[in-house]
Amino acid sequence: MRIGILALQGAVGEHADSFTRLGASPVPIRRPDQLEDLDAIVLPGGESTTMSMLLESSELFDPLQKRLEDGLPALGTCAGMILLASDVLDGRADQRNFAVIDIAVRRNAWGRQVDSFEADLDIEAIGHDPFPAVFIRAPRVERVGDRVEVLAAIHDEPVLCRSGSVVVASFHPELSGDLRIHKLFLEGVRS
Ligand code: GLN
Repeated sequence: MRIGILALQGAVGEHADSFTRLGASPVPIRRPDQLEDLDAIVLPGGESTTMSMLLESSELFDPLQKRLEDGLPALGTCAGMILLASDVLDGRADQRNFAVIDIAVRRNAWGRQVDSFEADLDIEAIGHDPFPAVFIRAPRVERVGDRVEVLAAIHDEPVLCRSGSVVVASFHPELSGDLRIHKLFLEGVRS
């Protein structure tokens, strides 16, 4: 399975390693012609404002928007979650988002208390063994649409959501060495 990883900025290598360990083929994506033949795409963590700018200057934004609207499965982590969300709060005025999952996210909202932290999550969809989640200047999910499943939450605040074959996490599953969320995503791509 060819899994594109948007490689303009951010935590690209760690996602690539996770998919390689699961037997998939990660492909770094920097140009529009590389979007052909992908089975799925990952939008990694980093800085969503910078990624939005680089998506435009590389002329990737519009073709990727089209592929996503045509049903390309997508995994978005942290900044990637922001880019896939339908509503972005506290974004920069010129920041663009793909709006393929019906959630509202507020940028850097966990970061007001602490810049980064770890939490063990209980995620039924991957078995109940605690998942060590790393949060770094993470977005906060403030609204979830009717068709969106909340797969994990902290104090009732969603941190892992799914809508069809789009999965978004406000944390960094690629940094924990635990492959269960990448595996769950791949199962959604196959089905
Ligand atoms: N705060 C970043 C943003 O707004 C996201 C942080 C991250 O991806 N670790 O894009």
